[in-house]
This record gives sequence, structure tokens and C-alpha cells, in this order.
Amino acid sequence: MISEQKSEHTTNTAPGRFPSWLKRPIAHCGKQKDVLEKIHNSGLHTVCVEARCPNRSECYNLGTATFLILGTTCTRFCTFCSVNHGIPGPPDPDEPGKLVSAVSSLKLRHVVITSVTRDDLPDGGASVYADIITRLKKEIPGITVEVLIPDFKGDKDALLTVFEAKPDIFNHNVETVPRLYNQIRPQAIYQRSLDVLKYASEYGLVVKSGIMAGLGEQDEEVFGVMQNLLDHGCSIMTIGQYLRPSRSQTPVVAHVSPDKFSEYEKKGIDLGFRTVFAGPYVRSSYMAEQILNRTKSGCS
Ligand code: SF4
Repeated sequence: MISEQKSEHTTNTAPGRFPSWLKRPIAHCGKQKDVLEKIHNSGLHTVCVEARCPNRSECYNLGTATFLILGTTCTRFCTFCSVNHGIPGPPDPDEPGKLVSAVSSLKLRHVVITSVTRDDLPDGGASVYADIITRLKKEIPGITVEVLIPDFKGDKDALLTVFEAKPDIFNHNVETVPRLYNQIRPQAIYQRSLDVLKYASEYGLVVKSGIMAGLGEQDEEVFGVMQNLLDHGCSIMTIGQYLRPSRSQTPVVAHVSPDKFSEYEKKGIDLGFRTVFAGPYVRSSYMAEQILNRTKSGCS
């Protein structure tokens, strides 16, 4: 019987009891209440709140948040995701304006814009992304904008609409290894997601992607994804622990140890990423501004 203590941080643990490294008190900062109030009063949605992200108070304190645009109903059914699935309503025409004023009143320096997938819209919502980026940059000097986009079904015109608005970071998550796509992202296509990243890289944008760990992937598969992302122009990668939002979502296969995340971070840098951010609590836009600055400064 391996002693609990010795193996605690070196070995992935099976689901069930939360390992020590996932037990951390949710810090509550004074700023959190103010941020939450302003977001609530703005009528906008954030991934921070919708996904009950464990990092939100830290991010709010750092002056960043991730806004969820184009509604809270997704046209796809990823089995790890707890958003509503179904037929979305029409986009809110006032959303870009509301978002710019919320970002301004929150005095955010770096803002991440993401959305559900809107396969029901002709351009997937690309024009709304472009409008928001353009208005943020016009009305809030010095703001940096990161977009975490769906794949717009690989539609090059829709993607170009977003590119031309010049986001500071272009992010699209491949989420997991190709072998698990049918189980985890049944409406997505791994190669299509890679092509979206390549197209953005060829346009000259800073490209970022990420996966969740703990869904049954093997190390060699993770390293394979790393090489695929690099070959498609990606320079920043995030890897975080998948946590099951509710019993309706796919179960966790393993709690990946901090040592394993460090191993992934080192391997990614050795393979050629400018920045790899891996850890149990890492999320796509966690420490997004710090990652942007780290990447800009060339420090890995
Ligand atoms: S496409 Fe995105 S928002 Fe929609 S179900 Fe999948 S992960 Fe969730």
C-alpha cells in the first residue's frame, strides 16, 4: 500500500476524494463584491460567474474578467460543459455597448471575450466579436483584448472578420486529445480547430490554445497535441485540471498531480512554446494578462 503522504504530489489520483492540491479556499477579495455587482447590473454574463470559476477573485483583483457574449445557450453539446444547450435567442444588439461601458467602469486592463457556439448565425457571431474588439480599443486606450472563440465551423470569412479587428491574443481551445473528441466534443473536428489556429497565425496574430487534463488522455497524446499546436502556429498553451461541473457532465478520469503539470510545462517549452501555463487551477484565461506580457517580453 503506497503511503498517502509520499505519493501525494507525484501521482495522479483517481476521482472521488479531492487530492490536497485541489483543496484550496476560494479567496474573497473586497474588490470581488464590487466587480460582481457591476457585472450583474450591466446585464452581461461572465464565464467567471457562469462556470463558478475558482480563480475569479484573483482575476478580479488583477483587473481582468472573461465576458460571455452571444447569450448563454449553445448550439453544441460538449459533454464536459455546463452551459445551456439548445436553440439560442437572437443576439442582444446592445451587448457591445454594455460591454464597453462595463469594462470601462470596472477599470479592466485586459479583457477576455468568449462565447457559446452559435452555429445558428450565418457568421457564427464573428461580426459581434469584431465590433466589440474595435469599440473596446477605440474607447478604452491601452486596453488589451483576448478572444477565446468557437471554431465558426472553420469559415474563413468569419475568422477574417475577427482577425481584422486585431485582438492582442487569439485563443481557440482544442480542449482535449483527438482520440477523445467523439466522447468530449462530438460536434467539433480536431483538424478543423488546428486549421483555425494556423489561419490566425498566418494572419500574424499571437495564437493560444489549451486543453483540460484528467479526461483519460495519455502523456504521449498530450505531447502529440503540443506538437500539432506548434506546427499550426500556436505559441501559448494552457493545461488545467478538468473538474466536473455537475453529475450531468462527463466524469473526471484522474486528478492530475502538480508534478505532472510541471512536466507538461517543461515539455512544452522544450518543444518550442513561448509560454506554457499548466496547473490544477489553470483555465484558458487564468492570468491572461500576465501570460500576454510574459509572451511579449519573450520570458517563458
Ligand atoms: S461549444 Fe463551448 S459553450 Fe458550447 S457546449 Fe461546447 S464548450 Fe460549451
